[in-house]
Amino acid sequence: MIDVSQALTRVLDRAAPLPTTSVPLECAPGRVLAEGIASDIDSPPYDKSLLDGYAVIAADLAGGRLELEVVEEITAGDVPIRSLRSGQAARIMTGAPLPSGADTVVPVEYTDLQRSESTAVVQIRANSPRAGRNILRRGAVMRCGESTFQAGRVLTATDVGVLAEVGRNEVTIHRRPTVAVLSTGNELVPHDHVPSPGRIRNTNGPMLSALAAESGAEVTDMGIAPDDRQRLAQSVVRGLDADVLLLSGGVSVGVHDLVPGVLTGSGVESVFHKVRLRPGKPLWFGIGGRRDRRTLVFGLPGNPASSLVCFCLFARPALEALAGRRDTGLPVARATLAQPHQVRGDRPTYFPSQLRFGPRGYVVEPLTWRGSADLLTLAHADCLALFDTDKQCYEAGETVTVYLLRARFGSS
Ligand code: AMP
Ligand code: MG
Repeated sequence: MIDVSQALTRVLDRAAPLPTTSVPLECAPGRVLAEGIASDIDSPPYDKSLLDGYAVIAADLAGGRLELEVVEEITAGDVPIRSLRSGQAARIMTGAPLPSGADTVVPVEYTDLQRSESTAVVQIRANSPRAGRNILRRGAVMRCGESTFQAGRVLTATDVGVLAEVGRNEVTIHRRPTVAVLSTGNELVPHDHVPSPGRIRNTNGPMLSALAAESGAEVTDMGIAPDDRQRLAQSVVRGLDADVLLLSGGVSVGVHDLVPGVLTGSGVESVFHKVRLRPGKPLWFGIGGRRDRRTLVFGLPGNPASSLVCFCLFARPALEALAGRRDTGLPVARATLAQPHQVRGDRPTYFPSQLRFGPRGYVVEPLTWRGSADLLTLAHADCLALFDTDKQCYEAGETVTVYLLRARFGSS
């Protein structure tokens, strides 16, 4: 049986980024950038005033001169026509270009203007300011030709603002992965049905569809296939049209666990079956479909908690990699155990837990969890704490690795 990191490597080795296309800026948020973006301008494009006031020469004020002749008024959009000489000031508005010779802006609140018919004189009440005060120098934010974003980034609304600032109308992004979700099992009824005795609702189908959509994929929920070789094979053939086929159930060793056999019978090449982890040991992974467009096929375990953990650890990184993301996988942190934890079983366990920020960093609290069929506890968890098999009991205060389940804030 292979371990989690070997399995993940085998998955990611087969998840090359999908082809690229270009979209207008308004369609960019949430998409993965497939090109590097460089600025076509200095930003700001000129030395700019950060507030309304008077552009002055700092040395004038340092020299004790407090009355300056106002020679010009500059608003945003203007180009200054006068160069300031000693003893002069220019009235300037927020965002307007600084006149040459000036090196400082005094806020209007610290000034008094005295106008006569022929002259305007401003009295400065500020303590002598440093040169450079209230000014943003040309190119201070970014220089023309400088890289702003690299390929692989998930674009945000803020990024759209930056792209607009550097003059982009369209951006090159990766095509979204398509995902087909197929739930298998004779016991399953659609989730909007009342199950008759012995039957249960299909939990995995809606959950896996939602998880795949959350990862940026275009999802088709193929519903439920019974444990019947022929019917299963028909659904698999349709599912192989997608970039990723997510099956759930039928991958363990029960008499009705037909999925691995049907997949290989449909031309899907097995890459691995069974991984050293809990929950999720029966995971099956293979590659199939058309020669020109290979489909990554995940046979996820039927138990909903196992299906979820396998999706998060293996299918989600694959979807992110197909989408062109560089930072794949769940965010990882180190946290201190809030209470002792007894390890059960002989496989590394990804245990549903809650994470909080204490005075000395992250603290993790494993939840009361009833095993692979208990999805509710996973819904209340915000992370998985990893307990390895090197010891039976972890003490309170020990440090463990945690994998954050909640959707990431921001992007790469
Ligand atoms: P299997 O791997 O098919 O043996 O399924 C393992 C367990 O998960 C069984 O108790 C199934 O009833 C349950 N199960 C399988 N598929 C689903 C599903 N789509 N929704 C909820 N439970 C499921
Ligand atoms: Mg089954």
